[in-house]
Amino acid sequence: LDPSTFTKESYAVVDFIADYYREVEQYPVRSRVEPGYLRELLPDSPPCSPQSIETILEDVRNDIFPGLTHWQSPNFYAYFQANASTAGFLGEMLCTGLNTVGFSWISSPAATELESIVMDWMGKMLKLPNDFLFSGGRGGGGVLHGSTCEAVVCTLAAARDTALSKTGGDGISKLVVYASDQTHFTVQKASKLIGIPPSNFRAIPTASATGYALTAESVRSAMEADVANGLVPLYLCATIGTTAAGAVDPLLELGQVANDYGVWLHVDAAYAGSAGICPEFRHYFDGVELADSISMNPHKWFLTNMDCCCLWLKNPSSLVESLSTNPEILRNKASDAKLVVDYKDWQIALSRRFRALKLWVVMRRYGTANLMKHIRSDVSMAKYFQYLVSTDSRFEVVVPRRFALVCFRLVPVGGGGDDGWDLNCRLIEAVNSSGRAFMTHAVLGGMYVLRFAVGSTLTETRHVEATWKLIQAKADDIYKDLTL
Ligand code: PLP
Repeated sequence: LDPSTFTKESYAVVDFIADYYREVEQYPVRSRVEPGYLRELLPDSPPCSPQSIETILEDVRNDIFPGLTHWQSPNFYAYFQANASTAGFLGEMLCTGLNTVGFSWISSPAATELESIVMDWMGKMLKLPNDFLFSGGRGGGGVLHGSTCEAVVCTLAAARDTALSKTGGDGISKLVVYASDQTHFTVQKASKLIGIPPSNFRAIPTASATGYALTAESVRSAMEADVANGLVPLYLCATIGTTAAGAVDPLLELGQVANDYGVWLHVDAAYAGSAGICPEFRHYFDGVELADSISMNPHKWFLTNMDCCCLWLKNPSSLVESLSTNPEILRNKASDAKLVVDYKDWQIALSRRFRALKLWVVMRRYGTANLMKHIRSDVSMAKYFQYLVSTDSRFEVVVPRRFALVCFRLVPVGGGGDDGWDLNCRLIEAVNSSGRAFMTHAVLGGMYVLRFAVGSTLTETRHVEATWKLIQAKADDIYKDLTL
């Protein structure tokens, strides 16, 4: 990095990004390009001579922008949001600028130490039991990963190795992983990755009666049946805020079942975990004291730019036993004396980014009070949207809203075996192809539902109102078509 050109060029990029945020509302939210569009625009091979940053930015605007789905648009209501903020960006800039690699304490002591401190800060904001904190003094602690998927792979590997150590390494084919049919698919993927036979992954059915949350009875009976068949329950994933419906699994009851069967309980709070900083949402965490690990993604709803996933464990030493390596090239006094955390042993890769810097900047620039305000503002816009839906009898909200996600649909018009599937497919496509808003769908209990996830940092009430009017107008068109 050459400081003499860095300042001028980075100003150009910063101005470019600021303009992007000023203009983002004008772009079609969901990209309209066809597959392969970019290959037609870009040269076959890289340039031989250097090109200016101005030329490159022009190409970003002309060639890349059309292929962007604008996650930062105020009219982005799809998936779950990827919050961006000035503090998140500045923290990311520091992380990227310093570009230090803290795989072991000695490789960059501040990186490791700040991460441990920030994980304790975040844990305290969520009122996690002391068992999960370094400062709790009981061996617990946390680490930053890039994604929930990595966190689940690592905790599953630790659970697997702990279980296998009891059987002399035999019997991976007997280990069983439990989740619900609403659990993020990342758990099934992780289970496969760590060698659990696909037939030993249980996606336990949920129902509308429980708002698509797991029940302790269903998990207990699945485990009972497996034990009766000579299998060994290994790992249960409970979710605070499922992807499709925002459902919350009952941690306390599930924790008791997990403890009865000696199963590792992981809590996936990827999306809704951020809400736990507000006292009115903290009750969803009740029972977390019975869990072995919990993860949440500040890159979803905590004003922290991609990527950042917090993982806390009560007993990180099981993770370290599973993932540690001790090559001569990395040996040093502090590690040999076991005086320090070496985060390389808490994750898959060796190299790692200084993500803690980013989360630290976010927490300090906003402070807890403003972070709570941010969560509450999104929740109140979602509540308002829910109210708007309830004022139009053609629509219904299909599951209780808990956070900033509203699942709704056009009520089937009846007759001809219509279950509302086609009607709602047509509606979402009409809205999304207008370019003025972007939502995604889910299927709950066989029902096709539309998800309205509030969370872009630029979204204001006026955007929610305008999108609702757009949805109503598209519904009018569809009904007109039906009556013709
Ligand atoms: N868990 C839940 C509940 C999610 O909603 C998501 C993504 O939306 C994930 C896990 C996946 O997270 P990641 O992309 O960090 O692996």
